[in-house]
Amino acid sequence: MAKRDYYEILGVARNASDAEIKKAYRRMAQKYHPDRNPDNDEALEHFKEAKEAYEILSDAQKRAAYDQFGHAGVDPSMGGRPGGGPGPGPDFSDIFSDVFGDIFGGGRGPRGGGRPRAYRGADLRYNLELNLEDAVRGTEAQIRVPTHVECGACKGSGVKGGGAPQTCPTCRGHGDVRVQQGFFSIQQTCPRCGGSGSIITDPCPQCRGRGRVEDRKTLNVRIPAGVDTGDRIRLSGEGEPGERGGPPGDLYVQIVVTPHEFFERDGADLRCDVPVDIVTATLGGEVEVPTMDGRVNLRIPAGTQPGRVFRLRGKGVKTVRGDRQGDLLCRLQVEIPVNLNRQQRELLEQFGQSLEGTAERHTPQTSSWLDRVKQFLEEWRL
Ligand SMILES: [Zn+2]
Ligand SMILES: [Zn+2]
Repeated sequence: MAKRDYYEILGVARNASDAEIKKAYRRMAQKYHPDRNPDNDEALEHFKEAKEAYEILSDAQKRAAYDQFGHAGVDPSMGGRPGGGPGPGPDFSDIFSDVFGDIFGGGRGPRGGGRPRAYRGADLRYNLELNLEDAVRGTEAQIRVPTHVECGACKGSGVKGGGAPQTCPTCRGHGDVRVQQGFFSIQQTCPRCGGSGSIITDPCPQCRGRGRVEDRKTLNVRIPAGVDTGDRIRLSGEGEPGERGGPPGDLYVQIVVTPHEFFERDGADLRCDVPVDIVTATLGGEVEVPTMDGRVNLRIPAGTQPGRVFRLRGKGVKTVRGDRQGDLLCRLQVEIPVNLNRQQRELLEQFGQSLEGTAERHTPQTSSWLDRVKQFLEEWRL
């Protein structure tokens, strides 16, 4: 069966905001939640569908991949990572593999068999705001993320005062018990101690018997030059610690580039608006424009119209993949003078008079437009 479009599933527009997507998903999840629709397979299918759509669209990186490549870019049935198949998926992940690792996110859950079950820790996401300069040049950021450390009050034992936990009286420290069921004797995990073989009757008040407390750790993250909003960097093993000896999750540093005073980023290119006075635009001249490597003089030819874009080659951003050095696109904004004094006013009036009869030559766009308007009105007898 063909997969339905994720936006269609959630009933949102393709340009829906994160908040709209979240809201739509909540509504669907409430409606089709299995608890509310027991034994209803159709509702369950809707629920699963909505959940999958939300998982992709709520993640900027996955959403971008989906927008670009469709289901092939993010297909969860491919095990989270496209591997060797045709299509743009593998290409997309190869490009980023050095810097970004597994951008489609790894699975989590039980690893290995047998008891006690080890669980991999959860992946964490950290939103890192960078200004454009740091994003373009690369930087090293210090971030503080939550972590767990051994509780100092009980030295990690979980027992008040730091003593050793008691042996579980139910299983006598074995961790499992035998239960008689009819003729059979079944071995199962001890319900009292959960399989650990020990219990804490007097838990440490600092950590409530867990043996570890929340803390924060500082990490140095190397940000490669050229990153942009939506890129993320995986710090392997820096997520939440695993349970019962399971491996820790990963930490994803999600890049958010803050708006810049002058520049707007567009892939590898930068855009900026450059205001210029009417005399310079008319007679030609030079204007000073900012670039990421300092100021540059931009030559304006005589008769430059507003909105004209000048391309300064190589003054954009080198992409994080290093495959392209972008340009700086300067769009000219011609400013009409205001607050003229009497003399300036008269000069401009004189100038206006001097144009009379030669409008076609000096303001060709205006006069041709006026001609066409006249023609249109005559043709339709308006
Ligand atoms: Zn403690
Ligand atoms: Zn026990």
